[in-house]
Amino acid sequence: MRKKCNPVEYRNWWSPVEIDPEKEVPTLLVPNVFVSEYLLHHYREELGQHFGITRKGKPAISFSVRERVCPKPKSSPPPRRSGSSVGPVPFGQEVMLNKGYTFDNFIEGPSNRFIKSACIGVASGSGCSYNPLLIHGGVGLGKTHLLHGIGHALRERPERIGFQCITTEGFINQLISHLREKSIDKMKRYFRNLDVLLVDDIQFLENRPNFEDEFCNTFETLINQNKQIVITSDKPPGQLKLSERMVARMECGLVAHIGMPDLETRVAILQHKAEQRGFTLSQKVAFYIADHLFNNVRQMEGVINRLGAQRSLMDREMTEGVIDDALGDLLRPGNRSRISIDRILTTVALAFDVSEQDLCGPKRARKILTARQIAMYLAKELLNESLSKTASAFGGKTHSTLLHAWKKISLALKNDDKLRRRVQKTRQNIEA
Ligand code: ADP
Ligand code: MG
Repeated sequence: MRKKCNPVEYRNWWSPVEIDPEKEVPTLLVPNVFVSEYLLHHYREELGQHFGITRKGKPAISFSVRERVCPKPKSSPPPRRSGSSVGPVPFGQEVMLNKGYTFDNFIEGPSNRFIKSACIGVASGSGCSYNPLLIHGGVGLGKTHLLHGIGHALRERPERIGFQCITTEGFINQLISHLREKSIDKMKRYFRNLDVLLVDDIQFLENRPNFEDEFCNTFETLINQNKQIVITSDKPPGQLKLSERMVARMECGLVAHIGMPDLETRVAILQHKAEQRGFTLSQKVAFYIADHLFNNVRQMEGVINRLGAQRSLMDREMTEGVIDDALGDLLRPGNRSRISIDRILTTVALAFDVSEQDLCGPKRARKILTARQIAMYLAKELLNESLSKTASAFGGKTHSTLLHAWKKISLALKNDDKLRRRVQKTRQNIEA
């Protein structure tokens, strides 16, 4: 499978799968039902080719869900079943969802397909064995959007689902005000009677042990009653400065990463956002913008808003020049004029442990070549110069060498997390 799908897909879907050695019939051990459904649906052909087909036309394999050992709760909760028919007690706080953050508005691509289907699974209440669901990733990549997407979908369910969607800060503020008004029991009752709890930005619990305790209790009460919890975080659970108990709890469910969408998906997002604002963005222009914005989706939204506000622009022919005029500083974040080729060379040489002379020289040893290509990539990204001028700064290389390096590194960044982090860090150092 590693050869048959791209690295992101492989990491999300296949790396957690194992073969059950105890079974005679080929049996795949999966973390939850949801994964098996997805694999059967999306890799039917490959599975069939490998394992053969049953008379019913299905791949001849079975799945079993791997048991995971989860930490025991401190004390067992009262055996109360609230059931959705009872619903939570009134709490004086309605669920606030951003109107636009629906699943329909969430554009899918390889970087987020896995997590989007997991969220849809949660919202539809099917196969609840991925509980809690934890979504982690950098800012502006759509975590809150998906969380609210679940909320919208829960509202559309025919049966009444008691749910709350709250930021961690909101949770803390509620806790403080209920403590002050001595109504803390009411709050506890409310949260512990929910069917689904959606919590945004759990990292805000870091370094707040008292709140963390209270949150953890609520969390455990819900989990023990098989109520669904979805959490977003800006980093993976293991990197959160929270108690071991809390981290272990969070890692027990499905932990999924959301990354920056690839170029094609970014184009689709830009076009979708433009359409929502009532104008169309040509493929060419969308590519041009998407090519320049690769850090977060929120930024892309800012660009669309600005273009929307300057609609008269749309009458002129949309050349790259026109877009540059309109969006100049947005497409070129940071003060690029301060960035010089020397600065790029010095920083890359330091970060990748090669000499500046080698970056501009002819040597093709792997380490040097990679560092040189990264420097070229960054130079093309960060300098506002023609390709030939930038290329000649590397000891008189040609613009096609530069372009080749840029393409190669762009591709590598998509697939190689470690490299991406290194290059990002270097870039930050250059821009700092
Ligand atoms: P996060 O919570 O990860 O910081 P948000 O959910 O607030 O990010 O997303 C930032 C903005 O980007 C939102 O306006 C959201 O609608 C938009 N966005 C992010 N990913 C996508 C996507 N795949 N499709 C459409 N819009 C997206
Ligand atoms: Mg958010």
